[in-house]
Amino acid sequence: MKVDHAAIVENWRFFKKQAPSAAVAAVVKADAYGLGAVGASRALAQAGARVFFTATSGEALLVRKALGEGPQIFVLNGPAADDVAQFGDAKLTPILNSLAQIKLWDARGPAGLHLDTGMNRLGVGPGELTQAMMALRDVSPALVMSHLACGSDLKHDMNAVQLKRFADAATLFPKAPKSLAATAGALIGAQYHFDLIRPGIGLYGSGGLDADNPGLTAAATIEAPILQVRDVNAGETFGYGATFTAPQKMRTATVALGYADGYLRSLSGRGYGVLGGAKRPILGRVSMDLIIIDVTGCAEAQPGVMVEFLGPNAPLDDLAALAGTAAYEILTTFAGTVRKTGVRA
Ligand SMILES: *Cc1c(COP(=O)(O)O)cnc(C)c1O
Repeated sequence: MKVDHAAIVENWRFFKKQAPSAAVAAVVKADAYGLGAVGASRALAQAGARVFFTATSGEALLVRKALGEGPQIFVLNGPAADDVAQFGDAKLTPILNSLAQIKLWDARGPAGLHLDTGMNRLGVGPGELTQAMMALRDVSPALVMSHLACGSDLKHDMNAVQLKRFADAATLFPKAPKSLAATAGALIGAQYHFDLIRPGIGLYGSGGLDADNPGLTAAATIEAPILQVRDVNAGETFGYGATFTAPQKMRTATVALGYADGYLRSLSGRGYGVLGGAKRPILGRVSMDLIIIDVTGCAEAQPGVMVEFLGPNAPLDDLAALAGTAAYEILTTFAGTVRKTGVRA
């Protein structure tokens, strides 16, 4: 995977423009969605980002090491009995997601508080609010946050329901900064911005929406080289299962990319590579290390030439739609699996 840090910064600035009254954090969990948390965090910190989110304390330690002291690093999953000591050592700020985590943390430093407003995943529920408030009465939370279940659908009724629940519950913590929106939530409207927005996927090039990309820049590129070019006759079949039959004479290219590299097998017969300025459809099945594409009439198709499968010309959201999944899964599936040989790392 080739990562464009300038594009990540450009996307972060997109959110600054989108929410001028809020701070814009950067969510770099899962190794920055597979793009590399160290490089992404450094580029964003250099551009002015001061608040970062990871999922685990292990991820946060890596980011702390990359950024040094200064930036605030929230850990979304909060502390567990076996890592609670690490938080203090590295000045990490946990998000407390339950009464049990509030108790475990025991006010040993600044912490955020997650309120569940309808996702039923993490967070203190409505029936536990008073207890949470009592437990935190001596330490105002460093952040009070919640998360939208249906932000990807800007018009979903659930968004307004959660907004109201969050605004109401947050009044119990008048001094704490508030945060509700991730990438998609930030695009719904200014009333969702509060003091801090938390884009993740938006930094890496997808709007996280069921609708079109709002104008974010591609940050990850996957290219792979052609190994062979073949001329085939009508009636011949391709790859495992012989699922594609040539309707006429064709020229095909076999490319060194497969599901072992993170190129999903569900893209068999659906995905495409881009070469010579045009989409070159995948013929038949994606196999472990190889893909066959149609390069009929494409003079550029020669062994050694790189074909783009994700990037500015093969958009992330497009790939996700063709694979029947989300941009998040496309990026994290490529994470770490793109091998150094053949596929440009
Ligand atoms: C992952 C996550 C985010 C970032 O979400 P995107 O949709 O990638 O912007 C923000 N907040 C929480 C609680 C998350 O889990």
